[in-house]
Amino acid sequence: MAHKKAEIPEKLCATCQRPFAWRKKWEKNWEEVKYCSKRCASQRNDVAARHGKSR
Ligand SMILES: [Zn+2]
Repeated sequence: MAHKKAEIPEKLCATCQRPFAWRKKWEKNWEEVKYCSKRCASQRNDVAARHGKSR
């Protein structure tokens, strides 16, 4: 079985608790990245974000 060449690191989003993969735009501050998206970054760990999501 062949395995992938690129090993893409993953992290767990602090807001939605989902794993997200490394992206090029984070190559310089990957250690500081805690959220999978801007949206999660703005919501942070707000309790309301858990059940008050508007779609
Ligand atoms: Zn997220």
